Amino acid sequence: MDLILFGPPGAGKGTQAKRLSELLSAPQVSTGDLMRAERARGSELGRKFDEFMSKGLLVPDALVLRLFEERLAQPDAKSGSILDGYPRTIPQAQALDDLLAKSGRKVDVVTSIEVPLDEIVERIAMRRSCESCGQIYHLRYNPPPSPDRCSCGGKLVQRQDDTEEVVRKRYEEYLSKTAPLLDYYRRRAVLVSVDGLGSLDEVTERLKAAIGIGSGTGFG
Ligand SMILES: [Zn+2]
Repeated sequence: MDLILFGPPGAGKGTQAKRLSELLSAPQVSTGDLMRAERARGSELGRKFDEFMSKGLLVPDALVLRLFEERLAQPDAKSGSILDGYPRTIPQAQALDDLLAKSGRKVDVVTSIEVPLDEIVERIAMRRSCESCGQIYHLRYNPPPSPDRCSCGGKLVQRQDDTEEVVRKRYEEYLSKTAPLLDYYRRRAVLVSVDGLGSLDEVTERLKAAIGIGSGTGFG
């Protein structure tokens, strides 16, 4: 199953992508991570990414697609993938369709985790990260052992751009950029909206229901 996950910053999309990846035995495929890995490996593609990124230019879609093509052809991704952070534009969505079609695949489900802005603001204001190991906590949903200490003993801090103003701006940007894509997938009848309120576990259960992995069906 090839699945795309959308959700505003602060909706817990990364965590849910990881969980779905385990549940579906399909890798989480994020363009950011893939590009970093290629650059670190110094591959031909990675060097091309460097050329663009060192000049502050956007990496052309064609190069990103080559990256996907290679990643989706790897054994662990042959039966599916969880795409996180891609596509971001209609042309990218169309190119992704063409790419998947080459190997007889298609975008099977697109889930959109929906969380109201006020909730996002509250969540992000309660986010803390560890200065030592980078672990991220939420004071309510994923509480650390103590409000200012990580389980590794490191000090917990709040990120500077986790302010209400920045959060609101990122949310508006997400909505305006994502709306055309959600329309694109809604017309194809593959879009499922999932209520992102509640605990991480509750949202995972709703995602499972939306995708059609019931508990106890022995999927995978
Ligand atoms: Zn830590």
